[in-house]
Parts: sequence; structure tokens; C-alpha cells
Amino acid sequence: MDIKLQQVEYAYAKGTPFEKRALYNVNMHIQSGTYQAIIGHTGSGKSTVLQHFNALLRPTSGTVVIGDRVIEAGKKQKNLKEVRQKVGIVFQFPEHQLFEETVLKDIMFGPMNFGMQEAVAKKRAEELITLVGLPESVLDKSPFDLSGGQMRRVAIAGVLAMEPDVIVLDEPTAGLDPRGQREIMDMFYALHQERGLTTILVTHSMEDAARYADYVSIMHEGRCVLTGTPTELFSDETKLREYRLELPRLVAFQRKVEKLIGEPLRELSLTEEH
Ligand code: ADP
Repeated sequence: MDIKLQQVEYAYAKGTPFEKRALYNVNMHIQSGTYQAIIGHTGSGKSTVLQHFNALLRPTSGTVVIGDRVIEAGKKQKNLKEVRQKVGIVFQFPEHQLFEETVLKDIMFGPMNFGMQEAVAKKRAEELITLVGLPESVLDKSPFDLSGGQMRRVAIAGVLAMEPDVIVLDEPTAGLDPRGQREIMDMFYALHQERGLTTILVTHSMEDAARYADYVSIMHEGRCVLTGTPTELFSDETKLREYRLELPRLVAFQRKVEKLIGEPLRELSLTEEH
């Protein structure tokens, strides 16, 4: 399922004295089956963009196309439930949204709310708990008796239980230790590879963007200023510097990208001051 943002503008608290423009003429095309990363500084508009991917926010002007749904600014929308099922969002610290008595009930909550039979939802929860790397024995526990990392996995299983076509990950490894971070990222990559799950990763980590994504978009001051493959983007030093992605970090990063992709990128200049 493709998602397109066409000339999307968004303002918070529109028409009030607190109006805050967050997006300016954003154009993006997430192609079905791809892995796309979105990077940018804090406040550049990443979270605002991602909430357009399943119509949690509707554009102030412009159009969002989610599969066969066309969401235009100012037009009423019916039955967004279906869109929300198809595009699952793993928000930052998703474990804060756990609330049921048991892990099993928490994972089953979304599918049952969507009308799935209890036995089917239970079976799905049992499969998913293994997929997210936890033993089946946690299903009967209270989510609040688990460690932070385990709670995160339960929350992720809850999003996957809806069987979305697209998964949107907002800094999914924030606050985890390096090993936990890697495990979660590798798990999402395996899902993408094995099941063709379209994946959108919002991240501060250029390493993760380069390691996992087919395409990377850079947000800067409410605009999507560049999109390309990691190789294209990270070898274009001038453009990256224009968007204040600093040179020393880039040089270290370039080495990592080269290792990952197994080919040299254009040499960066080390002489300039920053
Ligand atoms: P990022 O995810 O890249 O950190 P955001 O999308 O959260 O960026 O924010 C983009 C801009 O919108 C920022 O200037 C931010 O202050 C503003 N903003 C975000 N959320 C709100 C909100 N609920 N009300 C008003 N302004 C907001």
C-alpha cells in the first residue's frame, strides 16, 4: 500500500492566537514494500508528518493518499478505523499505553475491538509474543511486572496484532540499551524482509537510516528537503551541511556506511571548521 503526501501543510491550533505552522509543502511518496527512514533535528516536523500517515492529523492544506483513501484538507472523513488498522504506529515509549490486566489481554485488545473472534485473537497473540522475542509464559503476567524492554516488546506486539500493511516507527529504540536497540531494529527489519511489511522509521540515528532503509528523507524546518538512497544522500556533503548535519559526525558515519554497503563513498573534506 502506497502512501503519498502531496503539498501537505499543517498548522497546530489553526485560527487561534497559538497557531503554529509545522509543515510547509511536504511531498513524500512511500512505496509499498519499501523501508523508508525520516531523519531530522528535533522540531523539524517528523512527528507531525508521521501522524498524517494514518490520518491522526489531517492536512491544513494539500492531500494525503493512504492506499485507496484520499484525504483532502477540509473534507470530512468517515470510517478512519480501517486506515488505522492498515497503518500501525509504534509511538515513542509505546509501553506507556499498556493498560490491561494481562499481556495477553493487552495484545488482544486492538484486534477484538476491531471485531476479531476471541480464539483467533488469542492465537495471534501467542504467535506474536514469540516473534517479539518473549516467552509465552509472559502472556498471563501483568504488563506492569515486566522490565521496560519487555513492556516495549508487548506494546509492539499489540500494534502488529492488527496486521497492518504499513508500520510506522517513531524512535522505537529510545531509552533501550544498545543490545535491546539492535534486537528491536533487527526484528523490524526481518518483518520487513520476510513479510514485505512497508516500514517507515522516524529516527535521529543516521546509522540506523543507512543500515536499514531503502530511502531516506530529511526533514528540515517543516519541509522535506531531500529524499534519496543512503548512498546518494550521505555522499552529498554539501547538501547535508546545508541542513546542519555536522561534518565530524558525517565522516565517522561515512565510514560506517561504506562498511555496510561495501563500497567507497566520495571523500569528504576534513579541513573545514565547524
Ligand atoms: P519533530 O518530531 O521533528 O521533533 P514535531 O513534528 O514534533 O517535530 O514538531 C514540529 C513543530 O511543530 C515544532 O516547532 C513543534 O514545536 C511544533 N509542535 C509540535 N506539536 C505541537 C502541538 N501539539 N502544538 C503546537 N505546536 C506543536
